[in-house]
Amino acid sequence: MIIAKLTRPNMQYDMNALLKSFYPPEDVVMEDITSEDGDFIADITLDGERIAYVKMADTMDEDKSAFKNELRRQIYKQLKELTGRELPWGILNGIRPTKLAVKELDCGRSSKEAEEFMKKVYLASDEKARLAVQIAERERKIISGLHTDDGYSLYIGIPFCPTTCLYCSFTSYPIGQWKNKVDEYVTCLTKEIDYIAENFKDKTLDTIYVGGGTPTTLEPDQIERLLTYVSEKLDLSHLQELTVESGRPDSITRDKLRAMKKCGVDRISVNPQTMSDKTLKFIGRHHTVAQYVEAFNTAREEGFDNINTDIILGLPGETIDDVRHTITEIEKLRPDDLTVHSLAIKRASRLQEWIRKNGLEEVKDTAEMMDIAAAGAERMGLSPYYLYRQKNMSGSLENVGFASENHAGIYNVAMMEEVQSILAIGAGTVTKRVSADGSISRCDCHKDVELYMSQIDEMIERKKRLFR
Ligand code: SF4
Repeated sequence: MIIAKLTRPNMQYDMNALLKSFYPPEDVVMEDITSEDGDFIADITLDGERIAYVKMADTMDEDKSAFKNELRRQIYKQLKELTGRELPWGILNGIRPTKLAVKELDCGRSSKEAEEFMKKVYLASDEKARLAVQIAERERKIISGLHTDDGYSLYIGIPFCPTTCLYCSFTSYPIGQWKNKVDEYVTCLTKEIDYIAENFKDKTLDTIYVGGGTPTTLEPDQIERLLTYVSEKLDLSHLQELTVESGRPDSITRDKLRAMKKCGVDRISVNPQTMSDKTLKFIGRHHTVAQYVEAFNTAREEGFDNINTDIILGLPGETIDDVRHTITEIEKLRPDDLTVHSLAIKRASRLQEWIRKNGLEEVKDTAEMMDIAAAGAERMGLSPYYLYRQKNMSGSLENVGFASENHAGIYNVAMMEEVQSILAIGAGTVTKRVSADGSISRCDCHKDVELYMSQIDEMIERKKRLFR
């Protein structure tokens, strides 16, 4: 167990994230201590042995961010020496490292200067600093096409899936048990759409993303009902992208694809996560590689020319060779967009329980795997355009979206860079209001589908209060 004694309780969050990056399986306990001379002290032990100690002038009230960065750098250097490990992203433990790079470029710094900044201040590796800046440059172009002050994007959450994946921490209910409630759920979504139609008519709707869950658990008539309602109620004349995350191949049929196409969907995701049937079975996805290939090809036949494919690196039991195989097989299909996730071990997932019993040895998410995926993306003509990190990623790496020219997921960038408000409707969704000064406020909808439906008026009230 790690015990971190700090004179500043408000440094606990940052310290916990850094310590967890070096020692993922350890529990971290925070304790308050006092300092006699007013200096800041961090005293950190692992199983009773001191692993890091910092005593420095407490300048937090003068410049919080400079103070935090200096403290984290000092701890990082000590732990690096002790463990022999370097973290690819250095002291950066936030979700959006590219946001910092975008900020640097916005200040007028050159790419080279922005890279140097990422390396010097956050101790990011050469490779990650370059990646962050490369993505930031592409993101800025996408952002320049968005209505940041007078526009918004819409997220529609469909919280049903065929089965629950081992690593899932999203709002997801088995469609088999909820089939009879889906019409009622769609009706609740239409009520939320009414609210948006009424209150955002003077704003420009830039993108729509239907996610989940698995939106294609809806029947073709339900997909059509929902998307037709959207197009009748909202002004889509400036819409740049309508994505439906079809996700699970076992939920995709030709009829559903046709319904989506008819309603103007121009970007979909068909996700295998791995091209190994053995792993698919193990992680509880209940579909095969062949089903994924068939769903992908059917989507192409139905005219979808912007198909994203998601894969996950570090799935239990998978080796470098499995990743190489996955990439080789995906290359044959040539998706327009490839999203490479590093496995995140979420507290709410069954995976966490599995790791507790079986240990972390079987979960290897390495930089080499990421290199193989990135090289495959390059061979397919895809370049990185968005990136985010999550807590408890097994290899302390990142999730990266790669896309060919003009196929980047615009919603992904809008959401990740927090440059415009995202109106999110449906169970378990979070609406984000981005104000003109850049400040962000949020409201959520109940995760529990029954509660969401029974309190739909309150869900709408929450949005009204947020945008008052
Ligand atoms: S498809 Fe996605 S949302 Fe559904 S169970 Fe799997 S991880 Fe969760």
